[in-house]
Amino acid sequence: MLVMDNPETTDPLPVHDQLSWLTRGIELSCIIVAVALVSVQATFIHANIRFTFGPLRWLIATPQFHHWHHAADREGIDKNFAVHLPIIDWLFGTFYLPTGRWPQKYGLSDGKRLPEWFTLQFLYPFRRRQD
Ligand SMILES: [Zn+2]
Repeated sequence: MLVMDNPETTDPLPVHDQLSWLTRGIELSCIIVAVALVSVQATFIHANIRFTFGPLRWLIATPQFHHWHHAADREGIDKNFAVHLPIIDWLFGTFYLPTGRWPQKYGLSDGKRLPEWFTLQFLYPFRRRQD
């Protein structure tokens, strides 16, 4: 059972102490390094780098791998969900990485445009279908 209140008082713990149960036993330096690596990886996979990374492309998510995730081309729809390890998509049958090819189109495949307001974009997946 998770106890979020301070057992010595009736006051709730400060927010940073309440969140510490998520990282219990993990050194702060490890968390900082992990967050830094994840940030670099997230930027890396979205970069417009046309280098294919040779055999590494089968082991780590590369820009080419992740670009197919954002493709509007029919062949790339619902593919490459893994952010770090393509083997996860391979295991679930969603892996797609054609040799030397990149998506022709990005974004929504239905030809519709997203609303310009952030809040409406957030709600877009929950709209009533009109087809
Ligand atoms: Zn992305």
